[in-house]
Amino acid sequence: MQELSTTLLVVGGGPGGYVAAIRAGQLGVPTVLVEGARLGGTCLNVGCIPSKALIHAAEAYHHAKTPETPFGLRLQGASLDFAKTSAWKDRIVDRLNAGVGGLLRKQKVTVIEGWAEIQDGKTCIVRSAEGPRRIRAEHLVVATGSVPVEVPSLPFGDSILSSTDGLALTSVPESLAVVGAGYIGLELGMAFAKLGSKVAVVEAADKILPAWDAELTRPVARRLQALGVEVIIAAVAQGLSSDRKALVVATAQDGNRLIAAEKILVAVGRKPCVDGFGLERLHLARDRAFIKVDARCATSMRNVWAIGDVTGEPMLAHRAMAQGEMVAEIIAGRRRVFDPASIPAICFTDPEIVSVGLSPQPARDLGNDIVVGSFPFAASGRAMTQGDDSGFVRVVARAQDHVLLGVQAVGAGVSELAAAFSLALEMGARAEDVAATIHAHPTRGEAFQEAALGAFGHAIHF
Ligand code: FAD
Ligand code: FAD
Repeated sequence: MQELSTTLLVVGGGPGGYVAAIRAGQLGVPTVLVEGARLGGTCLNVGCIPSKALIHAAEAYHHAKTPETPFGLRLQGASLDFAKTSAWKDRIVDRLNAGVGGLLRKQKVTVIEGWAEIQDGKTCIVRSAEGPRRIRAEHLVVATGSVPVEVPSLPFGDSILSSTDGLALTSVPESLAVVGAGYIGLELGMAFAKLGSKVAVVEAADKILPAWDAELTRPVARRLQALGVEVIIAAVAQGLSSDRKALVVATAQDGNRLIAAEKILVAVGRKPCVDGFGLERLHLARDRAFIKVDARCATSMRNVWAIGDVTGEPMLAHRAMAQGEMVAEIIAGRRRVFDPASIPAICFTDPEIVSVGLSPQPARDLGNDIVVGSFPFAASGRAMTQGDDSGFVRVVARAQDHVLLGVQAVGAGVSELAAAFSLALEMGARAEDVAATIHAHPTRGEAFQEAALGAFGHAIHF
């Protein structure tokens, strides 16, 4: 068998793994990256990127179909060639995929295509097209990510789609039932509703986006209604009807219901990818199924590190990347810990939701005495001129010294405000710092400044 020795072996080429490898390469650490599917992992190939492409195309089509805008624009006969949409989305993925390959090459990272089978904490065997290879390394980074959770009575296949299958559709289904009103189910469900599918969403909890507070999710619930999406809460998907043409749902109010659907998208969460590649040989400490890591992403075995979705919540690409960069620096001899002030979370629903740091109730639950300031986009000139003034920005500050504990927003395009919110928290800003920063006019960002002013009761424009 061909043998290869290196300093760092990274298993998994998603945002966690490829960033770790690039940074290690920059620092001169000899690095091998093994990827079984495609560079970029879930995020680039079947997650963040294709979903945002689909959402963009769906929004553009929906907009073009709107009979008449308030400013008098009337577009007639708008049509969408969805096969072309799908091909466009695939081209973006291909371009980014090639880009990641180029960045790795530039840093002299050896990329091996194939599935790694872990032998021990320093060795793995990769079965690639060129035959099996044994790779030995001083450090092993496990960055194998996560996979969609299946509902046992709704196994993926045929008309039952995972998020990966949903993103690979080349025609718009006439009707779509979505199981799970988490961010993935709602992002894709809303996109398909805009593309013309009749969509129903089934959620076991008693509200959509159960992890988010009701104030933030209300504008999304309203938009779902406006789009004609049926939302059925407190309802558990049971399986398919005997003719396989409908989803059987047990509801708290009306007993069992049938929801006819051409396709059923199951988006009930993701689980770590920890099985089938010899990881159990390492007997690593676990946190439920996830690999347990400390603040340096060290596992319970010396020189074995784990980053990204395989280490637990929040399962987000930017967390994986930040951990990857940090671990590479630690392996190169630098002193680092993973201790961000916050990890921003975004739902790319319509409207978008951003949350950075603590929302009011969790802040109170942690014993904080807080002040809250909120500014509605209905009072924002920019939001009005963009034709969508739903939503608001909200700041949560400690009462005693006004240090910001959290910032949230819901509204069109607020994902782009996440950077400002995160920076404020990371810099330990007080509400006064944000209030005293001149924000350009007219922008949605002004709502952040106004919300900070609102925390002391003197927003100027509200
Ligand atoms: P992954 O991206 O899952 O990569 C792991 C890689 O390891 C995979 O490529 C896999 O093939 C490879 N691998 C596994 N086992 C082996 C092995 N034995 N040998 C070789 N290779 C192996 N996050 C956001 O931050 N923003 C978003 O907007 C967002 N949208 C999403 C939308 C959808 C539909 C989905 C499904 C996810 C979304 N996410 C989003 C989550 C994001 O994709 C993940 O958090 C991120 O990809 C995790 O990165 P990772 O490197 O930990 O793992
Ligand atoms: P989830 O968000 O877990 O949603 C799945 C939904 O399906 C749940 O609401 C569940 O009640 C419902 N469901 C399950 N089974 C059934 C059934 N049989 N019938 C009907 N409904 C069912 N993780 C946290 O721990 N806390 C957070 O605050 C948090 N915030 C996040 C914010 C963002 C923007 C993102 C991108 C991720 C966040 N995560 C959080 C991580 C997230 O939970 C994981 O990345 C992943 O599990 C989300 O995938 P999902 O949308 O498929 O599942």
